[in-house]
Amino acid sequence: VAALRSDVLVIGGGPAGTAAAITCAQAGLSVSLVEGRAFPRHRPGETLHPGIEPLLDRLGAAEAVRRAGFLRHPGVWVKQDGCDRFERYGEDANGPWLGFQAPRAEFDALLLAAARAQGVRIYQPHRALSCVVERGRVCGAETTSGVIHAAFTVDASGDGAWLAGQLALPVNRASSRFIARYGYMRGECPGRDSAPRFEYLPGGWVWTARVRPGLYHWTRLVSPGAGVARDWRPSEFADLEPAAAVRGADVSWRIVDRCAGPGYFVAGDAAAVTDPSSSKGVLHAMMSGMLAGHWVARCVLSRSLEREGSEQYSRFLHSWFRHSAGRASEFFPELRVAAHLFERPHLLEHTQEYCAIQACDPGGSRY
Ligand SMILES: Cc1cc2nc3c(=O)[nH]c(=O)nc-3n(C[C@H](O)[C@H](O)[C@H](O)COP(=O)(O)OP(=O)(O)OC[C@H]3O[C@@H](n4cnc5c(N)ncnc54)[C@H](O)[C@@H]3O)c2cc1C
Repeated sequence: VAALRSDVLVIGGGPAGTAAAITCAQAGLSVSLVEGRAFPRHRPGETLHPGIEPLLDRLGAAEAVRRAGFLRHPGVWVKQDGCDRFERYGEDANGPWLGFQAPRAEFDALLLAAARAQGVRIYQPHRALSCVVERGRVCGAETTSGVIHAAFTVDASGDGAWLAGQLALPVNRASSRFIARYGYMRGECPGRDSAPRFEYLPGGWVWTARVRPGLYHWTRLVSPGAGVARDWRPSEFADLEPAAAVRGADVSWRIVDRCAGPGYFVAGDAAAVTDPSSSKGVLHAMMSGMLAGHWVARCVLSRSLEREGSEQYSRFLHSWFRHSAGRASEFFPELRVAAHLFERPHLLEHTQEYCAIQACDPGGSRY
């Protein structure tokens, strides 16, 4: 089996992995990316916050995404205490900020194509099996396509958190166990416009959205003891046909304590997961992937920066996590969230990177 070598090895071809890979390739590094599944592959999370648009511009993928013709929406309907209100994302001189309703199979394939176009070597479908560690440093991975050695490895493997498992990194669990059940329905729901809708329910919430004409998505957060029937569906979709089997995902709030260390960075869901009703999972995955890529590029050029890079990166992720989890717990006080998270004020560490990337996240009305 051939042993390959590159400056950077990225595990996972979702938004975090492609953002990291493109950022490194743009800085002139050689990049290998290993993606375990053939595309198009399913992922939930079609509502994309408008803050991704400037990120897509930087990654050279904005034109392809705009041309794909995904539905756009200026904000989110919120139902609370029996009242509906419309929360706009915001606006500037060019008009209202618009989110996307992008089927993830298509969106992620566009990002992966952008990575390939920028010189990233893509191994797909190939899985990372075990990581290569030499003298305490991550130096690549054994994959189903052979051993790939790299100066830095970025784990963007999603909620399976591959590297945390490999290195037995402690995961800080910040909430009770939350499960999101979600499904897709086919048909017409004439009362709905292009904006998603969020509704508070006892012990959780429901999120519904029109993904494309004739296709709707719903997600129901189920907290422990909420007693939600297994065949629960949103009542407004009662006349629609199921388009796929109902699935479930563990969306308990969690963060890998040491999300950067010798030879590695962890990005996207592999690093941290918070409440998906913020609809910023993809935004966060791309931001953290780009920031990991930025530090990898600096560290490859100057090894002396590695310690500073991992500290700054970890601080950014922990700061973002406390902020997101803090905002979510204000909205759902009945959900049990670990008190130790809030002993320190949110957003204590305004690193330069945080501010720069926050500037690309114009909305933030709810979270
Ligand atoms: C029910 C639900 C609804 C959601 N709704 C939204 C929403 O509306 N808006 C939003 O922004 N976010 C939403 N999210 C969150 C969003 O789906 C995630 O935050 C986002 O997909 C994270 O991107 P990622 O790149 O970190 O991981 P992923 O998109 O999961 O990509 C990880 C990739 O790594 C690959 N991989 C895994 N292990 C290996 C391995 N060993 N070797 C090689 N490849 C591997 C996988 O095949 C996968 O392609 C939702 C989440 C859930 C569960």
